[in-house]
Amino acid sequence: MSLYPVTKSTLVTFRKELHKNPELSGYEKRTSQAIVNFIAPTNPTKIITNIGGYGVAAVYDSGLPGPTVLFRADMDALPIQESNQFPHRSSSKGVAHLCGHDGHATILAGFSYSLLKNPPPKGKVVLLFQPAEETGEGAARVIADTLFSEIKPSYAFGLHNLPGFEQGTFFVRDGAFASASKGMVIELKGLPSHAAHPEDGNNPDQALAQLILGLNSLVPANNQFSNFTLVTVIHAKLGEVAFGTTPGNAVVMATLRSFENPDMDTLTLLAEKLVHSVCTQYGISYKVSYQEEFPATTNSAQCVNMVRAACQQLNLPLMELDSPFRWSEDFGHFSKLCSTAFFGVGAGVNHPQLHNENYDFPDDIIPKAIQVFEAILNQLLVNTK
Ligand SMILES: [Zn+2]
Ligand SMILES: [Zn+2]
Repeated sequence: MSLYPVTKSTLVTFRKELHKNPELSGYEKRTSQAIVNFIAPTNPTKIITNIGGYGVAAVYDSGLPGPTVLFRADMDALPIQESNQFPHRSSSKGVAHLCGHDGHATILAGFSYSLLKNPPPKGKVVLLFQPAEETGEGAARVIADTLFSEIKPSYAFGLHNLPGFEQGTFFVRDGAFASASKGMVIELKGLPSHAAHPEDGNNPDQALAQLILGLNSLVPANNQFSNFTLVTVIHAKLGEVAFGTTPGNAVVMATLRSFENPDMDTLTLLAEKLVHSVCTQYGISYKVSYQEEFPATTNSAQCVNMVRAACQQLNLPLMELDSPFRWSEDFGHFSKLCSTAFFGVGAGVNHPQLHNENYDFPDDIIPKAIQVFEAILNQLLVNTK
């Protein structure tokens, strides 16, 4: 790979700088500045900053008609204390790049130097550095931003490194790639009273218990799902620690998950019906709200074929995934908008898992991933009439 004036070691140094200076979702101010500084010499037609928060979009516009091809990387870190002791370990207590978004951002930043060398002959290329992926808010905010009209893509591509998979192998799948998920918050309100006189109040304890059991049996008890769906109760709270009081409120939280978006709609409906029926039975009032909503990441076969062809041309190992991932990725918001391919690149079979405290991005996959992006772009804008 020759990306004069950038070499692999320049990219690794940049990646380690990002790793050392992690910022949480929605707070990627210095990260976005570092990215702008790094890519500025590549002559983008325009650099859009502060899109959907601290997002950065570098636009390479040929000035000629043609598709807009967007490549997206995430850039946020996690609220986890890193245990690594190497020199580029996080300098922020309790915040670290343990999902490899430092590496994803570096791949995209490196790719900007391919565009310096080979600007698009038609259409537009957009490199989008997206904030706040971990909380599922970033992509939606970028898309909702009025600035998005300037970069609205015809095609979008993105990748994630995959620990547990052979390093440097690319992983693809038509259709569902990563799950839809959302956090459901159920707040229950009864009536508190003295613990000696529970009959004077309305304790939501039974409703709480029924809801936990009911949420757990929602999927096994219904056969109306087309594919994998899952409910995980993640938190429950009843009243306060006060032995003299019959509690008057409770909270249950669950994560709903599915490979397909329509299954998520069904699951949501069933969960809400359950809440309604249980609360009605016990005379408890309730409020349901949602957090961290991710649509399913669904790939178009046309775009996945470009990833396949890219790996073939470059002689890079490629594997088809048997089933989608259970985790979610907010790239799914782009797959609702246009033709997309989100793919994986192996980080190493024994590599620490994503979000593990000893995780670090494997730098050796950076040049390969850049080459794959280049080869995808060539298929769309260079080797076509
Ligand atoms: Zn993550
Ligand atoms: Zn991630």
